Amino acid sequence: MNRDILGEIRRYFLGRRSSGMDVAYRLGGVERETQERRLDDKEIVMLTSPEAKPSIRFMEGREPASQGSLFAEPEKRERFDVSGCDLAALEKIVSGCERCSLCKERTRTVFGSGNRASKIVFIGEAPGREEDLQGLPFVGRAGQLLTKILAAMGFTREEVYITNILKCRPPNNRDPQEDEMRACEPYLARQLKLIDPAIICALGRIAGHGLLKKGTSLTLLRQGVHYYNDIKVAVTYHPAALLRNPNLKRDAWEDFQMVRRLYDEAMGEDA
Ligand code: URA
Repeated sequence: MNRDILGEIRRYFLGRRSSGMDVAYRLGGVERETQERRLDDKEIVMLTSPEAKPSIRFMEGREPASQGSLFAEPEKRERFDVSGCDLAALEKIVSGCERCSLCKERTRTVFGSGNRASKIVFIGEAPGREEDLQGLPFVGRAGQLLTKILAAMGFTREEVYITNILKCRPPNNRDPQEDEMRACEPYLARQLKLIDPAIICALGRIAGHGLLKKGTSLTLLRQGVHYYNDIKVAVTYHPAALLRNPNLKRDAWEDFQMVRRLYDEAMGEDA
């Protein structure tokens, strides 16, 4: 890339770093938004390295400061919009998604499985190794336990819908990062809109937080019923936590029984 342009980009970002900025740029094939946050030095170096081919596009409604020729005619950024997709189209988009860096290491995306008309949806955190290989949620050890829990609740896997906050596996099963959850959020939002369940059971703190945006403890999340739009949400332990600590099973079972009651109420079958 032309050194003058690189210099101009670098000066631009260094200048904006101190004042905050709201731009989108494409780096390494991944769309990124800064949303009023400061770029760190590493990002600026990456963005302005000779290998980088940044394309900088200003977000709607924001006027860039006058920055000379390179920024003279900013394009408007299109919003990522999946609101017109049905589930099949959404699954296809997810399978080719490059909205975060997890796409680089995944084997398969994991969209979801089960009854797409179910009134209950179980949401985990992210695919693990087996899920990444098979492209299906909860098929590893934690998944086998989830299948047993569902059976104890009176459900088969085919009756309910199962998905995750993230559709790609984080390396070494590390916790999902906020930017990854943000990137994946439109998919889950659209999935839930289309499935239109009455009850969501979030499995674990990260699923609860990803859905409810409450950065609080699982102890607090487990208390009571929350709402995602108009959908009732109950948060309980992740099956992997129950495998690690069987002492939690008693409390978890009370949660799952409450979830079943919520479901029965919603279906008008309150016993
Ligand atoms: N753990 C999850 O949270 N989701 C899966 O799909 C598998 C394990």
